[in-house]
Amino acid sequence: MTHHIVVLGAGYAGLAAAKGAARRLRRRARRDDVRITLVNADAGFVERVRLHQLAAGRRLQSLPLSGLLAGTGVELVVARVTAVDAAARAVRLDSAPYDLGYDTLVYALGSAADTGAVPGAAAHATAVATYRDAVRLRERAAHTRGSLVVVGAGLTGIETAAELAEAYPGRRVRLVTAGEFGAGLSERGARYLRLALDRRGMALREHTRVAEVAAHGLILADGGEIPADVVVWAAGFRVPQLARAAGFAVDARGLLTVDATLRSVSHPEVFAAGDAAAAHGPGGAATRMSCQTGLPMGAYAARSVAASLSGRTPDPLRLRYVWQNISLGRRDGLTQFTRADDSPVPAVLTGRPSARFKETVTKATVLALRR
Ligand SMILES: Cc1cc2nc3c(=O)[nH]c(=O)nc-3n(C[C@H](O)[C@H](O)[C@H](O)COP(=O)(O)OP(=O)(O)OC[C@H]3O[C@@H](n4cnc5c(N)ncnc54)[C@H](O)[C@@H]3O)c2cc1C
Repeated sequence: MTHHIVVLGAGYAGLAAAKGAARRLRRRARRDDVRITLVNADAGFVERVRLHQLAAGRRLQSLPLSGLLAGTGVELVVARVTAVDAAARAVRLDSAPYDLGYDTLVYALGSAADTGAVPGAAAHATAVATYRDAVRLRERAAHTRGSLVVVGAGLTGIETAAELAEAYPGRRVRLVTAGEFGAGLSERGARYLRLALDRRGMALREHTRVAEVAAHGLILADGGEIPADVVVWAAGFRVPQLARAAGFAVDARGLLTVDATLRSVSHPEVFAAGDAAAAHGPGGAATRMSCQTGLPMGAYAARSVAASLSGRTPDPLRLRYVWQNISLGRRDGLTQFTRADDSPVPAVLTGRPSARFKETVTKATVLALRR
């Protein structure tokens, strides 16, 4: 009987999982009794790590999933997943084939911007977490002469603010964060970022909590206001709630809880990878939502699924961090080198060499997914 592996989500994790499973099971083990289907809402692969570039008016290369899957034997279904029926072991879709039964499920639906965090953010702010978000931000930014404010000074917020400041040199770009700027970076790294923002004339507001987003800008928790023509919400990601609705074990945010082999702790026929998985890295800390972890998690999930089909348990997943790469426009950047647990060491790479390094890593990631 054919064993059907269904992978949900063709981002970094899902694509790596589907291609990895095909390589391991169909090509190497010659398992003709295995069928692999990859389900994704869009027909193209979205290079999420470049979405701030798209938002600032740059073009992204087109990467049709059909091309990335050519020759692998993986079937592609372009449809939106609306539900997972865990009891029936079936996935419900918004378009044909509507229902898809599975024997093994890989859950890799990624994340989106957490615009539900404060009132008004969903209505008045634009995010940069999905292709549609980035296109919307590109339109808004291009059609205003006024100021732009980015809420959230994590990696995505910093990269987006810097990219917009480079694309629109005459505009006022502000970066607002509830916490301390540069948390998680070394002292040298944080200092470099501050100087870089200064050089671009960007204003930074730390320790500033946003209570609401209104049509005219931000309303702060202390009662103050920051007027803005365009508000970018980059203060955190949320994940789809399909795993929770299906009854799979999830954490408080809805990330699917997995063991050290990326297997669901509640449903052994289910695996998860990428942003939507509650996995743990070195020292037991939750993994950082990143392509840096999503891609190896996807590749590992393929290994774990292949092992489960032959009744084996693979060695536990071992993730280790090496750097955090932050682009500051197209010609500047900060590479913060880290320990395996993602904590910063004093070593950094800055300026053009860092920008070139990040570009090389980003291109190499797509090359790895092509192979
Ligand atoms: C602007 C920006 C810059 C970033 N820069 C970096 C960086 O420099 N380095 C780094 O490591 N990380 C970076 N990240 C984070 C990184 O992009 C994510 O962590 C990574 O994309 C996660 O991979 P994933 O496969 O889990 O999810 P995704 O890449 O989000 O893929 C999920 C896929 O699932 C699909 N999907 C979702 N819901 C459904 C549904 N209901 N039905 C069907 N399909 C669905 C989506 O369309 C998507 O194709 C950045 C993120 C952003 C937004």
